[in-house]
Amino acid sequence: MDRDPVMRGFATRAVHDGQAPDPATGATVPPVYLTSTYTQSGLGSHHGYEYGRGDNPTREALETVLASLEHGRFAFVFASGMAAADAVLRLLEPGQGIVAGEDLYGGVYRLFERVYRSHRMDTRYVDLTASDPLQSAIGPRSRLLWLETPTNPLLQVADIAELTAVAHRHGLRVAVDNTFASPYLQNPLDLGADLVVHSMTKYLGGHSDVLGGAVITRDPALAEQLRFVQNAMGAILGPFDAWLIHRGIKTLAIRMERHCANARGVAQHLARHRGIERVYYPGFLEGRARAIVTRQMRDDGGMVSFSLATDGRESDREAAARVLARFRVFSLAESLGGVESLVGHPATMTHASMPAEDRMRRGITDRLIRLSVGIEDLPDLLEDLDHALAL
Ligand SMILES: *Cc1c(COP(=O)(O)O)cnc(C)c1O
Repeated sequence: MDRDPVMRGFATRAVHDGQAPDPATGATVPPVYLTSTYTQSGLGSHHGYEYGRGDNPTREALETVLASLEHGRFAFVFASGMAAADAVLRLLEPGQGIVAGEDLYGGVYRLFERVYRSHRMDTRYVDLTASDPLQSAIGPRSRLLWLETPTNPLLQVADIAELTAVAHRHGLRVAVDNTFASPYLQNPLDLGADLVVHSMTKYLGGHSDVLGGAVITRDPALAEQLRFVQNAMGAILGPFDAWLIHRGIKTLAIRMERHCANARGVAQHLARHRGIERVYYPGFLEGRARAIVTRQMRDDGGMVSFSLATDGRESDREAAARVLARFRVFSLAESLGGVESLVGHPATMTHASMPAEDRMRRGITDRLIRLSVGIEDLPDLLEDLDHALAL
């Protein structure tokens, strides 16, 4: 969906863009267009809408607000974050290559390895917390840099502007998975990236009740290809799901403020706790990494990970299982970004498919726990953590 680059404030755009009153009735919230097809008044005469896979006004409304929030010109929404990632990979020819960060969302890693390997895609993984490894990993077939920042579950950061400059010098396009930050905290297109990918299942939807994915760009040529893929492959987002996500986006700004404030409170509390070995949180990074956060993010986000201090009386996994069983406000669940606080165990949940050796090398031990801090009252979250961590 194309839009004029009107730059009002973020919260105003989140509430109003794509939500002009319905011209037929004045309905302040435009209706959900539940239709698979559009009646034509005569041969070749229609309102620009012919068939639901290609066009739907409810979907377009969501695409309009997404393009606005990411400072893009075109947005395309899909049935899930994975379908959005797949749409980006369809832009490559068989045999072309990708360079990706090693701390990659597991589903994207699986897509690269188990689906696109057989399309002869050449995929290389590098540490993107510095720019030198990228420089040496780029090969003659590399066409796309795929990066995620902050990373999951260790919440390290990559310098989008610097890595994009290196990638562009070598003729690679750059796609940034912006799911963890959300457009409220970070806008990769402003830092030079060509494509932004979201799992809208997380902060954009925000209520753990819908799945969706999005790709946003400024480049008309890329937009044309994405539009073709969206219609030709057909992994579109249904109108009701689009409406739910759009409804969620209207409160993104205030939700993110609360997520960030609560996560800061949780991180500070954990840092003082005797039962904790280390807290991973963008707000606690130092030196170069902290400078990257300040440059490219508006706040430190809603995710906090920590490792348990263990005294050798029980195994790491036993210690994690004991703590995880005692939460009463945080729910033990996959996913993130909803209003409710979630707790997860990366080693056996999100990163279970990663070989143990790789996991350990990256610091994803059995005593690592990840929190998606929700918007509840902070004292209740802190009390729940104290209860879970009590010996
Ligand atoms: C969840 C997630 C995805 C996949 O999105 P789905 O909506 O679950 O398909 C991709 N990237 C990141 C960073 C995610 O957290």
